[in-house]
Amino acid sequence: MSERMVIAIDGPAGSGKSTSAKLVAQKLNFLYIDTGAMYRAITFLAIKKNILSDKAKISELAEKTDIELTFENGKTSVKANNIDITEEIRSQVVNENVSDVSKIEEVRAALVKKQQKMGSKDIGVVMEGRDIGTVVFPNADVKIFLTCSIDERTNRRFKEFAEKGKAVSETFVKNNLLERDRIDSTRDISPLMKAPDAVEIDTSDITIEEQVNRILEIIKTTANKKKINLELK
Ligand code: C5P
Repeated sequence: MSERMVIAIDGPAGSGKSTSAKLVAQKLNFLYIDTGAMYRAITFLAIKKNILSDKAKISELAEKTDIELTFENGKTSVKANNIDITEEIRSQVVNENVSDVSKIEEVRAALVKKQQKMGSKDIGVVMEGRDIGTVVFPNADVKIFLTCSIDERTNRRFKEFAEKGKAVSETFVKNNLLERDRIDSTRDISPLMKAPDAVEIDTSDITIEEQVNRILEIIKTTANKKKINLELK
């Protein structure tokens, strides 16, 4: 079994974080944690409870909700207080509101605490998000920052929606990505940014396999330097 390492993968929506983070975690037999799913879960519940305009109530929700993320056989599922909301958190209305919910300081504090706890088990972890290398695990062994052109990111998200049979226009998808980028990168608390010691990979013109291989090479080099034993599947 591989020894424990913490791998932080950050970047904007559609940059390839989830796809590569899952595959890297599977290769290393590490835990995979999608922190975006946690912000999405709180947003979905806030919409359902009709409290989107009440920051104090959303913050309370973030503190009190038990969020469970599981990743088995390549499939992630998300439960909030034991109720499965895996599909619901990917809806358009969640896409449109999640960045505003994620700006709330108390929401971030509550979720960051849960993420630090989830990532501190004996097993290695691949955690993806916007502030993993900067705030959640500033001492992560490896920090990756993925970037990608807006056109390619739009293309990827548009295809995902089409595969699920959801009718949205490319312009709509592009505008949502740009708006989320804007809010996520300009917020006061832990904005989306590359940690100074993160390795940047532009995924616009490379395949998923290449992305994963580059990330694994970086992890292997660090493991060698730190004399950490890794066993790849
Ligand atoms: O990764 P994903 O696109 O699912 O994230 C949804 C939203 O959650 C992001 O646009 C951002 O507003 C928020 N988020 C965050 N910090 C993280 C992960 C996600 O603010 N670590």
